[in-house]
Amino acid sequence: METIVIAGGGVAGLELATRLGRKRGAARRVILIDSAPTHFWKPLLHSVAAGLIDPSHYHIDLARQAIESGFEFVCGEIVGIDRGARTVNVRLRRPLAHDGTASVQYDRLVLSFGSITNFFGVPGAQQHCLSLDSVGQAEAFRQRFLNACAATGGRRETFMDAGLRDPAAPLLDIVIVGAGPTGIELAADLRHTVDTLVRYRLSGLAASRQVRIRILERGPRLLAGLDPSVSALAVRKLEELGVEICTSTAVAEVGADEVRTEDGRVFPAALTVWAAGVRGPDLAITPALSVNRNNQIMVDEQLRTIDDHRIHAMGDCCSLLQPERKRMIPPSAQAARQQSGFLFELLTHAAGKTRPRFRYRDYGTLVTVGRAGTIGILLRAVGRRNLRVRGAIASIMYRMTYERYVMSHVGPLRMLGHMLARWCRSKMLMPVKWH
Ligand SMILES: Cc1cc2nc3c(=O)[nH]c(=O)nc-3n(C[C@H](O)[C@H](O)[C@H](O)COP(=O)(O)OP(=O)(O)OC[C@H]3O[C@@H](n4cnc5c(N)ncnc54)[C@H](O)[C@@H]3O)c2cc1C
Repeated sequence: METIVIAGGGVAGLELATRLGRKRGAARRVILIDSAPTHFWKPLLHSVAAGLIDPSHYHIDLARQAIESGFEFVCGEIVGIDRGARTVNVRLRRPLAHDGTASVQYDRLVLSFGSITNFFGVPGAQQHCLSLDSVGQAEAFRQRFLNACAATGGRRETFMDAGLRDPAAPLLDIVIVGAGPTGIELAADLRHTVDTLVRYRLSGLAASRQVRIRILERGPRLLAGLDPSVSALAVRKLEELGVEICTSTAVAEVGADEVRTEDGRVFPAALTVWAAGVRGPDLAITPALSVNRNNQIMVDEQLRTIDDHRIHAMGDCCSLLQPERKRMIPPSAQAARQQSGFLFELLTHAAGKTRPRFRYRDYGTLVTVGRAGTIGILLRAVGRRNLRVRGAIASIMYRMTYERYVMSHVGPLRMLGHMLARWCRSKMLMPVKWH
């Protein structure tokens, strides 16, 4: 019996474990290892950070998924690989049992432990910026953001009593570094949250614009990877929401309450979020394998590590060139899912389906700009032509991306149950998780 160990149960790893576990008739043992007991769809983290969704309503429990899909789950942190002995060393983090260590034997190992924020060595960035790599970090951001709004509202009331300040002047500055989809979606969600705090009188803020949200982007435009017309539309939508955008602005240094740029400007910042790139995590296992300068594991076109063909890597933690475009495959959920599908075929030798090499196909990108709607581009949607989308159709497509993902794990009935439960909650609960 072949043992396949999957290290990391995120977008790529959980999908592969679920599909392999459900595949009948093979003498195969599938073991998924993850440091968290639950799985969360990372592209929703900005909404957790803004308090617009409660992550506990979106979790997939990995122990339940394992039993229902026919794989084994080990809850623990991977701390090393012994390639000679073909074992993965795990520091167990079992919620209902004593912690300890374990050594998990593999015949094939698939690494899919994602990525962390890349601060590119900018002084002060790691120390002072918040980032959104996990649910814990997004929840920590939410707390700090709400506390900052409450404290600012309290200060405003004092100023007003003393007649010292223009009631509409910005009092709280939030800076987001990076104008990719994450930065843009976070800015729009934060504006939505501040609007709600004002509407429900949950802080002393009198007007939403008292919280100033700025996006700083090194490049000349937002959403650099997308069509320029989509970038222009994003700018219009963000300006409607009162988000300030500074392009061609490279951050030189981050302090506790300000951001300094290379051209000498200083932006006040009570909170700074870094959303400007990712790198492979600093795991003790990576020294055993060749990595690129972003610490991502180098793989060949069959997603095998270049040092050891029994070890594969997929998702954000791996690095592979798209030969026809001469660009690296981007770290995205879309790429992670395609790589997981490829490895499923490769590892099961699916009849007639096995492709000799992995080819990434970019289907396009959708970005939601809060209340201002969803925009995006679908690549080669009509023959070879690209299609720009916006409005209700784009919003439905954006939501369906997540629902289809959930359906692939829990089936259509439970997916519909989850949708209904979320709709009911949205009618009963506050629009913002504020306590
Ligand atoms: C805020 C945000 C918004 C995004 N929006 C989009 C979007 O709109 N569209 C899009 O395509 N992509 C988006 N992405 C990117 C997308 O989420 C990632 O590319 C995708 O999740 C990568 O999948 P993965 O399986 O490689 O890693 P992940 O999904 O990050 O999973 C990694 C897993 O490994 C586990 N792990 C890590 N280290 C260890 C360890 N040492 N031991 C055990 N387990 C470990 C983690 O707990 C996690 O479960 C977004 C990302 C963020 C942060």
